[in-house]
Amino acid sequence: MAKCPVCGAPLDWRELIDQMLTLEDFSELLKSKDDFINALENFAFKCPHCGEEFYGKFLPRDEAEKVFDLLNDFKGSIDWEKKKVRIRLNQLLALDKMLEEWDKRVKTGKF
Ligand SMILES: [Zn+2]
Repeated sequence: MAKCPVCGAPLDWRELIDQMLTLEDFSELLKSKDDFINALENFAFKCPHCGEEFYGKFLPRDEAEKVFDLLNDFKGSIDWEKKKVRIRLNQLLALDKMLEEWDKRVKTGKF
């Protein structure tokens, strides 16, 4: 899971994307995964725990890519008027990881 590179506190992807929603062209970024990842890596996020700023490139890339998919897959995932993410990204990511793990176990026959 995503952690602050400064203080190590676990981060909520929903809060992180809320910060990115201040970008004028955010809705455009959701059209291309490369653009989205590029913008995320160069975005200066502020940790809600220690208040320090850090770049998105310190966040796990695989999770960032899944966040892009989740925001696109769920209709109404973003409240554009309030500039807020509506879906619980961390829970969805955890669920996704669990299903992947389960899938692996089924394939290898290890329960
Ligand atoms: Zn921090």
